[in-house]
Amino acid sequence: MMDRPDILLITVDALRADRFNEETMYSLWKRLYDSEHAIAYTQVVAACSFTTPSMVSMMTGLFPPAHGVRHLTGEVLSEDVEVLPWLLERLGYVTGAIVGIEPLKHCGLDAHFNHYEGTSNPFATRATEGYYTGKLYSRVRRVWREFKEQNPDKPLFYWVHNADAHEPWMTSYDEAISFIDYETNTLVEDLDPDVVIVTSDHGESLGERGQFHIEGGKHGDALFDEELLVPLIVFSKAPEKVIGLVWEEKVVSDTMISLIDVASLIVAFAGHSYGAWQQGALGYFDHGRRWAYAETTHPRTHFDVQPLRTIRSASTKYVERWDGEDLTKYDLVGDPQERRPMQVVDRHERTDVTNAFGDITRWEEVHEAKDLEMPPEEEEQVKEHLRDLGYID
Ligand SMILES: [Zn+2]
Repeated sequence: MMDRPDILLITVDALRADRFNEETMYSLWKRLYDSEHAIAYTQVVAACSFTTPSMVSMMTGLFPPAHGVRHLTGEVLSEDVEVLPWLLERLGYVTGAIVGIEPLKHCGLDAHFNHYEGTSNPFATRATEGYYTGKLYSRVRRVWREFKEQNPDKPLFYWVHNADAHEPWMTSYDEAISFIDYETNTLVEDLDPDVVIVTSDHGESLGERGQFHIEGGKHGDALFDEELLVPLIVFSKAPEKVIGLVWEEKVVSDTMISLIDVASLIVAFAGHSYGAWQQGALGYFDHGRRWAYAETTHPRTHFDVQPLRTIRSASTKYVERWDGEDLTKYDLVGDPQERRPMQVVDRHERTDVTNAFGDITRWEEVHEAKDLEMPPEEEEQVKEHLRDLGYID
């Protein structure tokens, strides 16, 4: 493999970590076991339980308090933030993206790619399993080929956001996932990139908490693991290991990492540095002794109550309101379903948690997002799209 590999990154919206199994995702599961150099992580914590802040975190290696994009829509990433495609371009890459969900078109990431497009929003026609994935991947095949033809000497970084597993589904969540799995595997076979990374922006609650959610919304209002954990599947033609990714020793790893570490991983594959980029920590892949941070502003947006934030290790999770009240603790070993919230009574423990939140939110450079301004007709189109997705009434 050349020292600057072609990298294809596919994010499947709302793909739960536990759905990466032989039954639901047979094609990629089989590819994982058939590949010489591949690994899947099953304890990957998204930085937000809904799309936009989570994907901006993945593309910047920063948690939302540091990059400033904290809502589904209405914010544009500050131009001062160092963004992954921009760094890759400096390393000689051409960069492209195609995103299938309206908020990702307008969050400011587009400014940092050589080519960035949204699909023509077919999925606002409600349940579209298959139709959308087929259309999206046809476009990806064509654009990928064009990129390679026009830039024969340059490596390519290409990001695809597939939103076909987002509700509403035509049949069921699992069937949508299985279909996407099959199509994604075929796409990977066709394009045959040097490095392939498949992951998601957040998980999906499938009734675990009863009536907890607003109608139609199945993620974003809470920070339980079913909404935060996503799979991360990595295939590479490189025989040498990237730090933390030990191909020979494990195929499926339950080491806890943060989804923002994907940025560090890609930076490492591109040959820039081995270790941590921004707030990510590729070097921790092997030990996992760190806190992953996540937050959601949806409680305020939807219910006019305090937003939530969490820090989570492999064994313990703390959740609190943004005003620092209602600190709750979960023992993820003894209570993996997070059914038994505990009070934090120990003063030192309380201080440790406060400090950990502080370390994350007082990152060396904290950015503010700008307000999104768009023509009224376009704004109405975005609203229509969000209505279809069940985010607004
Ligand atoms: Zn999403």
